[in-house]
Amino acid sequence: MAGEPQSDCLFCKIVTGDIPATIVRESETTVAFRDINPQAPTHVLVIPKVHYPDAASLAVAEPQIAADVLREAGLVAADEKIDESGYRIVLNTGSGAGQTVFHTHAHVLGGRGMTWPPG
Ligand code: 5GP
Ligand code: ZN
Repeated sequence: MAGEPQSDCLFCKIVTGDIPATIVRESETTVAFRDINPQAPTHVLVIPKVHYPDAASLAVAEPQIAADVLREAGLVAADEKIDESGYRIVLNTGSGAGQTVFHTHAHVLGGRGMTWPPG
């Protein structure tokens, strides 16, 4: 069934607790945890508990949960006090764009200046 946990998915295992993570927020539908290889002073990943490979497929199948991911990203930014200085939400989609884990995740990055265009 769509959205079911995948046995070979790293982030599904973080949802179940089989792989440990530093969890900073949790909601009924999402988990937020610190990235293992931070690219900024604050670097948190917000994931849905359901498994969809990327943000767009999640939004098609479960629009409310896609909205939950964005809401939680904003709450992480507030918790981490990066909301006033500005922060970035990144949704890498496809290996050509740098996606390496194919379970939807929003990167919340902040605590330093951000350049545009992104790398
Ligand atoms: P992507 O490159 O797919 O957009 O992002 C995947 C992110 O997951 C990377 O920033 C990477 O550092 C992070 N990551 C990979 N494995 C783990 C892990 O086991 N634990 C945590 N907390 N983050 C991970
Ligand atoms: Zn998964």
